[in-house]
Amino acid sequence: MTTIGILGAGQLGRMLALAGYPLGMRFRFLDPASDSPASLLADHLAFEYADTSTLEQFAQGLDVVTYEFENVPVETARYLEKFVSVYPPSVALEKAQDRFIEKTFFCELGVPTPKFTTDTNNAVGFPAVLKTRRMGYDGKGQTIINSATELENQNLNEMILEEFVSFDRELSIIAVRNKSGETRFYPLVENQHRDGILRLSLVTDQVPSQLQQQAEEYATRVMSALNYVGVLTIEFFEKDGQLLANEMAPRVHNSGHWTIEGAVTSQFENQLRALIDAPLGSTSPLGACVMVNLIGNVPDVKSILKIEGAHLHLYDKAPRPKRKLGHITFVQKDVETLQKKLDCLKEIYDVL
Ligand code: AMP
Repeated sequence: MTTIGILGAGQLGRMLALAGYPLGMRFRFLDPASDSPASLLADHLAFEYADTSTLEQFAQGLDVVTYEFENVPVETARYLEKFVSVYPPSVALEKAQDRFIEKTFFCELGVPTPKFTTDTNNAVGFPAVLKTRRMGYDGKGQTIINSATELENQNLNEMILEEFVSFDRELSIIAVRNKSGETRFYPLVENQHRDGILRLSLVTDQVPSQLQQQAEEYATRVMSALNYVGVLTIEFFEKDGQLLANEMAPRVHNSGHWTIEGAVTSQFENQLRALIDAPLGSTSPLGACVMVNLIGNVPDVKSILKIEGAHLHLYDKAPRPKRKLGHITFVQKDVETLQKKLDCLKEIYDVL
């Protein structure tokens, strides 16, 4: 019996556990929030991440520890490493938690990024995007800056300034590597955001293979440099047929939720396989897929389920504006049929 410890008990942790139960795995969560989406599914210690005495208690009897969000304190992962293997390696957390370190790391590996600077003499031009270096997600802590005067009024401490990229679209790659170094890649996903929050992810066979190869090459460089184990997501802007890396997440990702029903093996199962160094499962898609996030409110459940082929996931979270409460996936034989399903959903939910 394998018992896996997960730092963070949100919806990603919940979906990891749901993928692991058929494999006979057990789970234990650590998350300060007592009413988390994964709480009902497994043991849950509701303690602070930095509390070392409870970390020891948490680690007792675990085979391996992973995390489901990238703002777990690096020190927590390092401390746990004394007792149990922690994957992805804590160095991945260190790189991903600070946008400046992350983009510098991409550049060192020859992975192109939007121009960026921490210099107050803006060298990236206007418009620019000012972001917090740390703890920013879902577009939080971001401001568009249009002129030098606007920039003067900002406090640039702990911030990064990026060129505003008028991208053609946003894409992400989900890669996975096990302890033995076997790697697999899901097809590039097209992501559509509103207010900086992911609303919809689309998987079709219409992404050029040269882009797929490029993304796989970049993900391979990152995973090799970090001696990576687990699922890694890199988000890109596509501009004039080129990929620019925006950020990476050392974990399963919202843009990979479609894989639960839409791929031979889900990102969650592959994360678990990677952790126990099992052979990875096929990442092939089973059709054209779309995943729609339910943000802020959930439409009438029966109306959703009335749409033939709707796969509904609810995270057991109280509704709140901008909060991810669930998602719906459709897997269809082609893009046209998929579009029809989306049209049905649009009648009951404000998709985009
Ligand atoms: P992030 O928190 O960096 O993932 O940003 C959230 C969203 O804001 C991205 O998915 C983009 O839609 C947008 N965004 C972030 N950075 C830039 C940029 N440099 N240029 C244009 N749009 C951006």
